[in-house]
Amino acid sequence: MRLIETIQEMRAFVTAARAAGKTIALVPTMGALHDGHLSLMRQAKAQCDIVIASVFVNPTQFGPNEDLQCYPRDLAGDSEKASRVGVDVIFHPTVAEMYPNGYASFVSVEKITDKLCGLSRPGHFRGVATVVSKLFNIVQPDKAFFGQKDAQQVLVIQQMIRDLDFNVQLEMVPIVREEDGLAMSSRNRYLSAQERSAALVLSQSLSLAQQLVREGERDIAKIRTAVVKRIAEQPLANIDYVEIYNYPELEPVSTLSTQALVALAVRFGSTRLIDNAILEAY
Ligand code: AMP
Repeated sequence: MRLIETIQEMRAFVTAARAAGKTIALVPTMGALHDGHLSLMRQAKAQCDIVIASVFVNPTQFGPNEDLQCYPRDLAGDSEKASRVGVDVIFHPTVAEMYPNGYASFVSVEKITDKLCGLSRPGHFRGVATVVSKLFNIVQPDKAFFGQKDAQQVLVIQQMIRDLDFNVQLEMVPIVREEDGLAMSSRNRYLSAQERSAALVLSQSLSLAQQLVREGERDIAKIRTAVVKRIAEQPLANIDYVEIYNYPELEPVSTLSTQALVALAVRFGSTRLIDNAILEAY
């Protein structure tokens, strides 16, 4: 596996791979890799000849009071894990390589970003769309792999691909969970033992929503109330948002008719976790 740190070298690698007739997959990450990330990489390897995983803690997607400085970084561990699942290249540029002095261009996806994490993290999706556009332009992948863990992010990137005519196919990979149900996240390591067990309320409340739908409930307000109530029973949980929107449009809906996304953002101490599930009325 190769480690590439400059845009110039990344472009040269991709040009040679293309000339050799290889298909290319991109898996954007911020590192501190866990089995969720590795699942994306395995999918990528199954579908394309060459897998390029980017490891870049992107400063433009963090708000001023967020965890940019302390975000976990472990390039040695990441390299070992990525090479074990068949990643061909880790692209690990510096911040100055991606955002040199004088940098002034940003990509802003509207409408779908005016809710959920777009509301609680102003500027977050502008940073995400900008860095993903840059990665698409640098790597020019055939396919790019994103996790359902960040369901709104998938929809934002999908919208950007359509609107800006990126020639890439987005693949969404299901959420990978710990055995007890907690969605894997690089931020789980911030949790104390008590917070870690309290955080189980996220997956449990999503299961409750799915169970209600299985039992025939179609009233979105009732499902949402049940989820909020379940989370509020956990004293260490501080709700940022609990919302249910139709899927994939992310528009308000009162009755579940086809698919809806139940999306949660909840704080445990200073750690903000997100989780979601797609509800299906079939
Ligand atoms: P991050 O490093 O948190 O920016 O995540 C990089 C990619 O991995 C994103 O597409 C995430 O949605 C995806 N991802 C993170 N956690 C999980 C998980 N538990 N299951 C599936 N995909 C995940």
